[in-house]
Amino acid sequence: MVYEVAVISGKGGTGKTTVCAALGFLAGNVVMADCDVDAPDLHILLNPAINTTSKFVASQVAVINEELCTSCGICEDACRFHAIADSHVDTIACEGCGVCAYVCPENAITMVDHQSGNLYDSTTRIGRMAHAKLLPGEGNSGRLVTEVRKLGTKMASQEGISTVLIDGSPGIGCPVIATVTGITLGIIVTEPTMSGIHDMQRVLNLLKRFNVRATVIINKYDINLENTKAIEDYCNENDVEVLGRIKFDPIMTKSMVAAQTLPEFAANHEISRLLQKIWNRVSDILTG
Ligand code: SF4
Ligand code: SF4
Repeated sequence: MVYEVAVISGKGGTGKTTVCAALGFLAGNVVMADCDVDAPDLHILLNPAINTTSKFVASQVAVINEELCTSCGICEDACRFHAIADSHVDTIACEGCGVCAYVCPENAITMVDHQSGNLYDSTTRIGRMAHAKLLPGEGNSGRLVTEVRKLGTKMASQEGISTVLIDGSPGIGCPVIATVTGITLGIIVTEPTMSGIHDMQRVLNLLKRFNVRATVIINKYDINLENTKAIEDYCNENDVEVLGRIKFDPIMTKSMVAAQTLPEFAANHEISRLLQKIWNRVSDILTG
């Protein structure tokens, strides 16, 4: 069995990726998976060497064969997405429904695969990594997240590794739902601001709806002790374990500037030691 653990947050900028990369380094024997496919940045810290690249194809577009086309305009009238004009297809507006190919009396239209992104099988200094990138303007990020998870789980099975550590995308939209569906454990990284509390509650509700065990890390807890207490009280009332409270410290930013995880940059720093304790607790939860 492969455990999937996702580090997520209700909004960007909470330190989610920094925490995820640090936990990955400390875990020592996990596959990393970057499911933040709209704006991936785990690679900045882990500097992956790409082994293989696969095209991510999630849809098709219509292509008109000009030699067969008689410019009758039937396809243009039939396309409800207004993606055809003067016998030319606007590939961005085309939704791949195939109606034009169906109605064309000359069989001049073919549906072809449309690449929306790339999927990468990589190796980093801390182990294998599955990641991806959507091409500019492309959608289907939820499906690409699912592909990253599948690849991460496959890598873990190949290597005999029990855990895939996922860096999820922020928010509660489609990519996050695709990230958390069926995972073993969610780790929500939040910060003690009013928006941080609100966004944490929304993600907790999401995990509850998908029947995923939730835990919380409060980052920069000392910037507002009152709000930190409010987070802890809310978690207590809702049986959500707070794994740890990380204080604000510029060393987090310094490690990022050095493109290192915090435990690599400052192994004996108190936050590195705290993160080790947090990972030990995560391991206990997974195996307990
Ligand atoms: S329906 Fe077929 S023949 Fe008519 S304009 Fe469209 S592609 Fe050309
Ligand atoms: S496949 Fe559908 S959306 Fe695309 S051009 Fe044809 S009718 Fe329009």
